[in-house]
Amino acid sequence: QKEQAQATMIEKAYTQDGISVDIFANLATLEDVEQALNGGAEGVGLVRSEFLFMEREQAPSEQYQYEFYSQIANAFGKKQVIIRTLDIGGDKPLAYLQQGHEDNPFLGCRGLRLCLQNEELFKVQLNALLRARAKHPNLHVMFPMVATPEELYQAKSLLSDCHNALQRDGISSAIPEFGIMIEVPAAVVNAKQLAKEVSFFSVGTNDLTQYVMAADRGNNAVSYLVSSTQPAVLRMIELAVKAAHDAGIPIGICGEMAGDPKLTETLIGMGIDKLSMSPIRIAAVKQAVRATHHQQAERKAKEILNADTSQQILAIL
Ligand code: PEP
Ligand code: MG
Repeated sequence: QKEQAQATMIEKAYTQDGISVDIFANLATLEDVEQALNGGAEGVGLVRSEFLFMEREQAPSEQYQYEFYSQIANAFGKKQVIIRTLDIGGDKPLAYLQQGHEDNPFLGCRGLRLCLQNEELFKVQLNALLRARAKHPNLHVMFPMVATPEELYQAKSLLSDCHNALQRDGISSAIPEFGIMIEVPAAVVNAKQLAKEVSFFSVGTNDLTQYVMAADRGNNAVSYLVSSTQPAVLRMIELAVKAAHDAGIPIGICGEMAGDPKLTETLIGMGIDKLSMSPIRIAAVKQAVRATHHQQAERKAKEILNADTSQQILAIL
């Protein structure tokens, strides 16, 4: 029976009418890899690379990062592994980075913004990723906290500079496929323009929710606003899905919402292609996928997106 349960967990999940959605894992450390593989992850939708940079005196070297990224990509064989570039901000200071005081760190210099202002640090990471990609074509790159096309052009141009320099050194790495996190409301509004530049979108619902609702994701007094059943949050996701699919690129979710089985049917009905979550959530979400009927899910998603209030959405769910 235990073997049966394990097999069910590993097998790909299909809806009752045969539609599949990718079920991926989020991870941060090498220790998470095994749990993700045993838990039935079909790939890695989010490697939070910032954990490699925290709690140390100096930034991790290119070689150290290269080995870390290679080990994760290698563990998953041909399965896609998406590594997110450093997503750190003023609320999590790094000893070796000069970050001025910020009154509003969540609205400050974090994620890609910080990397673009610290090019040397960023280039070390890009080089490590490119070198790992040379050995592991399943490695993909993702940029966090993108708000404008200019930020993306800049990141792309740095990636291509690093690539050219490596080529000159005789390391032939293809430029990895790269995508962006959709977690700033401006990225949803700019989604059509951003989609032209990337291979995929991944919605960071943790940040997108707090920024859309203007409600701190860690503040209990406003937790009723920081909710995946807020119509504004779901409608933002709907807009991002449309822009992605109009441009012919896939869109996933890698925020907490992806791991909530109560929402699986709705997210499938909205056209989400991939759900990436903490490995312990995979079994429950696969079960929810198997219980879903695609056409019914589409109807339900429509109903939910037409609801006036969060309470109505909860009632429908
Ligand atoms: C998110 O914002 O939803 C996300 C996945 O990124 P993090 O939680 O690491 O900010
Ligand atoms: Mg985020």
